[in-house]
This record gives sequence, C-alpha cells and structure tokens, in this order.
Amino acid sequence: MTERILTGDRITGKLHLGHYVGSLKNRVELQHHYETYLLLADVQALTTHFENPVLIKENLHNVALDYLAVGMNPDKATIFIQSLIPEIAELATYFSMFVTVNSLRHNPTIKAEAVERGFQDMYYGFLGYPVSQAADITFCKATLVPVGEDQVPHIEQTRRIVRRFNQLYKPVLVEPRALVGEVPRLVGLDGNNKMSKSLGNAIHLDSSAEEVREKIKKATTDPARIHKTDIGNPEICPVYAYHQAFREEGSDEIYESCKKGQIGCAECKQKITHAINDLLEPMRERRIVYQNNPQRVNEILMSGTEKARLAAKETMQEVREAMSMNYF
Ligand code: ATP
Ligand code: MG
Repeated sequence: MTERILTGDRITGKLHLGHYVGSLKNRVELQHHYETYLLLADVQALTTHFENPVLIKENLHNVALDYLAVGMNPDKATIFIQSLIPEIAELATYFSMFVTVNSLRHNPTIKAEAVERGFQDMYYGFLGYPVSQAADITFCKATLVPVGEDQVPHIEQTRRIVRRFNQLYKPVLVEPRALVGEVPRLVGLDGNNKMSKSLGNAIHLDSSAEEVREKIKKATTDPARIHKTDIGNPEICPVYAYHQAFREEGSDEIYESCKKGQIGCAECKQKITHAINDLLEPMRERRIVYQNNPQRVNEILMSGTEKARLAAKETMQEVREAMSMNYF
C-alpha cells in the first residue's frame, strides 16, 4: 500500500506565507509520492472560535482555494471536511479514555497557545484538541504529517496514543512521524516570532502584488537602524528572515551589506517584495480559475469527504473489533 500523509489547517482564516514554508510546500511536492489526505479542520477551529462559527463557514472556501492555488491537485489529494467524518469524533472519544489530563496540560504548544489566548481556565475541547488530532491522523493510518514546528508535540502525543491503543487492544493503528518544513516557524511582519492567522501579522497567499508591497513597506525592521549607513542587525530583522526563506541565493549578500550599512531598508524591502510576488504570481493564476467556479470547489470537497469517510469506516471496523465492540 502507498504510504499516506495526513495534514491540514484550522479553518480560522486565509492561509499565509508561514503555512507555505512550514508545511504547504512539502505537501505540494509529496502529493506525487504519497496518498495525501488534506483536512479542513472546522472542528479544531471551533476550539478557539466556538463563539463565531460563521467565520469558519466563511473561510472554508478560502482555505480550499488556498490549497488549490498552491498546487494541490484534487485528482491526487483527498481534500475533506473534518466534521463530516463522525468516525473521527468517535475515535477521539475512545482515545480520551486513556489520555491523562496532565499529559495534555504539559504539552508545550497547548501551554503557549493558552497563554497567547488569555485562557485562565482551559476549555475541555481546547485542552483535548491533540487527542482529536490523533484521531485525524490515525483514522486514515497516515505515516507522515507535514507540519510547522508548533505541531511536533502533538505528533509525539499521537505516537504515544497509538502505542497505548495497540498495546491495550490489538495493533491496528500506525505511528506517524512529523515532517517539519524548511522554515519551521516564519516570523510575523510585526516581529512576533510566529506569523499567524490570528495575530494579524501575515502576508496571505491571495494577496495582490500591491498588498504585498504595502505590507512589506510597513514591516518591522531593526529598530536601531535609522539611516542607511547605520550598521544593521539582520538577525533580529523579520525582513531578513524573509530573504532567507524566499530568496535563498541572495540572502548572504543582504546579510553582509546590512551589517556594513551598505544597503538601506527600502532597497532591501524592494528585493524581497519582488521575490514574494514571483512566488505568488502562479498561485494567483491558479486561484482565479477555481474562484470563478465555486461549484467545482464544492464537488472537490464532497468527493474528497466521501472518500475519506470510506477510509474512516474501514479503520473503525478494525478499531471496534480490536476493542471487542463488534457486538453483532
Ligand atoms: P491559528 O492562529 O488559527 O492557530 P495558524 O496560523 O497557527 O492559525 P494552523 O491552522 O494552526 O495555523 O496551522 C496549520 C499548519 O501551518 C501547522 O502545521 C502549523 O505548524 C503551520 N504554520 C502556521 N503558521 C506557521 C508559521 N508562521 N511558520 C511555519 N509554519 C506555520
Ligand atoms: Mg495554530
């Protein structure tokens, strides 16, 4: 059997350059070598957006368009909607019987996100989302999960859950491994250490050339650097991080000339603006085709969901049998 990939995104907003370098780029390449399952995580989005489910609905097509625009091929990848696979919720419930609350509370990503979102007391669904994510990954027996760095603790937790399940019942589930992209964590335009949908510090993949130019123009740089001849600190400059991520060939030269005060921030920003627009241009062209045909996008989502459901039913039969829950 061809090995499977499971990966996906919370439907909390349009995708951005951080998603691209952290995970999407890998997914586009790997879809040719793995059977790829691509999850539109509406349930996981609810863990932080339960008060605003309309936002999730509004973003469903946006994220699907992002996938198609970056080059995910719907004939190769199975793009599906999490909440329409009830077996995922069932599997997560079974897992939750043997996952301890402390193991979730000590998960470093859960801790960091809880602080970021100002949670005093943690919601049950939020605390348990790594368990639900373990079900997302294991229902289709994925072996590889392309993700950004923040997701690594969750994959570790999934591996522990699989081992425990297989040991308690029967070895029917498979342990996945994480594949972190070239840039594990892309910095935000404001200098925050993560470009994020929820922090308003992102360049979205559907940005026009003009929007990219405007955003880069306003991006934070080394605050101590006022004149072109001032010696710069590229290490702390988000714009330099973008050079490293998107202009690999030219980034050493930028580093040197910034350090020597030979290049001004305006020129440096101009170069990266061009590089980002060159990357986004083919995506814009692919996006427009699907944007003009929303019915085709719906068909892709419906047939992907149908296919994922079949895989889920197959796995759940084995799971229930392993747990002696095959009653009749
Ligand atoms: P939210 O703020 O709603 O949680 P997000 O921007 O963190 O949104 P997710 O949908 O949670 O996006 O993450 C989807 C995938 O993209 C994950 O694998 C995550 O690690 C990766 N990712 C997100 N932001 C970045 C980033 N700035 N750099 C690298 N990878 C990222
Ligand atoms: Mg996130």
